[in-house]
Amino acid sequence: MANEGLRALPAVDALLNNSAVAALLSAFGRPLTTAAIRKVVTKARAELQRDTPDSPPPSADELIERATDWLREQSAPTLQTLINATGVILHTNLGRAPLSDEAQRAMLAVASDYNTLEFDLASGKRGKRSLHAEALLCRVTGAEAALVVNNNAAAVLLVLRTLARRKGVVISRGQLVEIGGGFRVPDVLKQSGGKLVEVGTTNRTHLHDYEEAIAAQENRVALILRAHHSNFRIVGFTTEPDLPELVALGRKHGLPVADDIGSGALLETNAFGLGHEPTVQESLSTGADVVCFSGDKLLGGPQAGIVIGREAVVTKLKRHPLARAIRADKLCLAALSATLLHYLKDEAVQKIPVWRMISMGVNEIEARAQRVVEAVGGELLVGQSTVGGGSLPAETLPTRLVGLRVRSPQRLAQRLRQHRIVARIQDDRVLFDLRTVSPTADNRLVSTLQQLLA
Ligand SMILES: *Cc1c(COP(=O)(O)O)cnc(C)c1O
Repeated sequence: MANEGLRALPAVDALLNNSAVAALLSAFGRPLTTAAIRKVVTKARAELQRDTPDSPPPSADELIERATDWLREQSAPTLQTLINATGVILHTNLGRAPLSDEAQRAMLAVASDYNTLEFDLASGKRGKRSLHAEALLCRVTGAEAALVVNNNAAAVLLVLRTLARRKGVVISRGQLVEIGGGFRVPDVLKQSGGKLVEVGTTNRTHLHDYEEAIAAQENRVALILRAHHSNFRIVGFTTEPDLPELVALGRKHGLPVADDIGSGALLETNAFGLGHEPTVQESLSTGADVVCFSGDKLLGGPQAGIVIGREAVVTKLKRHPLARAIRADKLCLAALSATLLHYLKDEAVQKIPVWRMISMGVNEIEARAQRVVEAVGGELLVGQSTVGGGSLPAETLPTRLVGLRVRSPQRLAQRLRQHRIVARIQDDRVLFDLRTVSPTADNRLVSTLQQLLA
C-alpha cells in the first residue's frame, strides 16, 4: 500500500509520552522538548514523502535520539572556555586576558547576591558606583582621579566628546590607525563630534607641525591627542614628538593632552626581555592630563576602559551624560578591583595570568613541552610567543613548541577545535606553545591528543 511508511511514523504526542522522553522533559523543559520532537518528526515526514514513502519510518528510539542531539546542540553555550596553544598571550579572538583566581572569585561573590554597588553601609544612604575600583586605580598609578567605563574605545570616545566637541583635536597623521575590531581613531573622533586636525606625514611629524596647526586653527583647537600605534609599527625614516614635548606644547597653548596608551602596562615590559611598552605611570608623570587604556590587555583584568588623570578633567568626564551609557558593571568592577590589588600587593607577576605567561621561563615551558612529546610523540622545537592585543608589535618571547607532523595538519587542527583546543599550523606541522596553556590544562591537552592520534 502506498504511503505505508508515512502512516507508521510515530506521532508527536505518542513520542512525548514515551518513557524515554521523560529525562529530556526534565532536563530541557516541556516547550523546548516538544519543539525538538516536532522538528524531528516533521523532518522525517518530509524525507519519507520525498524519497521513500513506502519504506519503514525511523523508529521511536531513533527519533528520540535525533531530538536529544538537537536539544544538546541548542542548549550548548556558544561562549565556552578553550585551551589557547597558539602562544599569542593577549589573543583578541580568544577573549584577551584570562583572570586571576582572586578576580574570578570576586566576580562570583558579587554575582551571587545583592551588593554595595551604589550603597554606603555606614550611612545607609546611596553610595557611589564610581568608588569601587577608582581609589585602587589612584593608589596604584598615582593619579588624582579615575573613571572606569565599558572598554577603551568608549573611554576615548568619552574623552573626545567631553573635551573637544565641535572643536579641533590635533593628532599626528602616523597615529590615525585602525586597531582590531573596527576601532579607527579618525572614526571615533568623528563620532565624538570633534574635528580632526591631522598634522605631519605618515612617517614623520615634527613639533612645529603641531605648532603651525594650532596657530592656523586660532582658538578652535581644544585638545592634543596622542594615540599608541597599537598593532602597527613604522620603521626606518620616522619621527614623532615624544610625550614630554607634547605636554610642554599643551602647557604653552593652554591645551589639555590626552594619551591613549592602549594596553595599559603597569609593569615595565623591559624587565621581561621585551621592548619598552609605555606604562601608565610614566604617561601620567610626564604630565598627560588624561590617560586612557584597556582593562583586559597588559593590565590583565576584565574588559574595561580606564581613564585616569587630573581631578578637574576626570570630574568633567564623569558628569557627561555619555558616561552613564558606557559605565562599567558590577562584575567588571569586582574583577578589576581584585586585579588591581595584585599590583598594590606587588604580586602581579605571580598572580595575574598574563604576567605569569610573559614571565614564564623557557626552561619551564621546555619541561612541560617535553612531557607532552614523551606522551604523544612529535618533536620539541625552538619558537617564538607573541604578546598580541595591540601591544608590542613585532616583539616576541623565546619559547619551545611541540610540533606534530601529520598527514593533514588542517584536519588535526579542526578535530582539536572540536575539543576546544586551538593550535597553530606552520608548514606541515601542528604547533603547540605551552606558554599560553594554563599548566592545569596540560593533562587535558595530552589526553585529547592521545585520543585523536590513536
Ligand atoms: C586596544 C586599543 C583601543 C581599544 O580598546 P578596547 O578596550 O578594545 O576598546 C584603543 N586604543 C588603543 C591604542 C588600543 O591599543
